[in-house]
Amino acid sequence: MTSPIDACAQPALLHPVEAIKLLLAQVSPIADTEVLSLSQAVGRVLAEDLVSCIDLPPFDNSAMDGYAFRFDELKHSETSAFTLAGSSFAGHPFQGQAGSNTCIRIMTGAPMPAGFDTVQMQEKTQQQGDIILIQPPKIRGANVRIRAEELSSGTKVLKKGVILRAAELGVLATIGVSHVRVSRKLKVAFFSTGDELKPVGSELAAGQIYDSNRYSIHGLLHRANVELLDLGVVADDKEAIRAAFNTAAARADMILTSGGVSVGDADYTKQVLAEEGEISFWKLAIKPGKPFAFGKLGSAVFCGLPGNPVSSMVTFYKLVWPLLQKMQGLELVPSLSFPAKLISPIRKQPGRVEYQRGILSYDSNNQAYVAITGGQGSGMLTSMSLANCFVLLEQEQGDLDVGAIVRIEPFNSVLC
Ligand code: AMP
Ligand code: MG
Repeated sequence: MTSPIDACAQPALLHPVEAIKLLLAQVSPIADTEVLSLSQAVGRVLAEDLVSCIDLPPFDNSAMDGYAFRFDELKHSETSAFTLAGSSFAGHPFQGQAGSNTCIRIMTGAPMPAGFDTVQMQEKTQQQGDIILIQPPKIRGANVRIRAEELSSGTKVLKKGVILRAAELGVLATIGVSHVRVSRKLKVAFFSTGDELKPVGSELAAGQIYDSNRYSIHGLLHRANVELLDLGVVADDKEAIRAAFNTAAARADMILTSGGVSVGDADYTKQVLAEEGEISFWKLAIKPGKPFAFGKLGSAVFCGLPGNPVSSMVTFYKLVWPLLQKMQGLELVPSLSFPAKLISPIRKQPGRVEYQRGILSYDSNNQAYVAITGGQGSGMLTSMSLANCFVLLEQEQGDLDVGAIVRIEPFNSVLC
């Protein structure tokens, strides 16, 4: 057996920041791409830089409903009278010739008539038959959006590796792009391991619990916008685990399991992956979520999450999600975090980085406050459901009293 990373050889607990670095070095973005229409491409990762073939805006146009005129024809500081010579509506430009001291009725988005450079908004004008009295705006070009003021043809508008969200889809449509090349969706196979686990909808016998991790992982993967392959609950049985791993490796880019990675487990995950691929077991300096396994099977990457429900969510969030982002070809952005004042005390033993679950709120002065959700046991999944943020506590941190300033990390798109 070879370990893909030597982290398992380390006697000390591995800091999560170090763990992320080691893991990221083990994966690369998938090379496969596909071309999709804009509406199919929502949430996907752009696989090539995109350059605009048009100017934005494509022509000089009015930013207001009002009247267009030549700035030089204003009688400065007084209201000026212009003769109305026609109109320009969005989609219906003024076609005629406009003589001196004329103005054109113009609507927002309508093209500026040739030779006209300024617009005054309707509210600052007065109509008297064919004569329009216009209060002078301060500057030439007021209320006009100039051709190419946003960007000119040939400019890069979107970089390879961005997610196509609402704004990006709109930007693409603005420059007339109908189809885009995106990275293929990642395929992630996942299963739960443990003889004690029963599927929801069945009766529990003594010592059994419902398999909840598969559903929280399903939710996380759904948010990560990958293709899901749910392989159910797999018993603590070597051949069942081997079969599940082989099915997963044949069909997925990543295999995700929960349970069976702690010391002293019925350790078939380790045996099977050692025989069929590569695996290493880590002890992370993170709470919840100390045990974690990483390996490779065929062309698939394997991540073994701890079984405790909060631990599996936190290790997914901290370790698996960055991996998925890199594999999807996404640019990694640091998590948002900021200070908040504690309104409930915190119990913590120095030793591990903790991700306690918190509820962030603000007072009328915009001061951020955070309360702990209650019991912080790594099996207490309601703590994740009640929370809207993590309270980040560094390794050496001990107990904290009400009023202490702590760093919080609001739940991001994968958790919300
Ligand atoms: P393990 O990591 O397998 O040692 O499991 C640690 C704890 O998490 C045990 O209490 C398990 O019963 C529990 N657990 C493991 N897998 C799941 C799961 N899929 N859903 C809910 N709890 C689980
Ligand atoms: Mg187990």
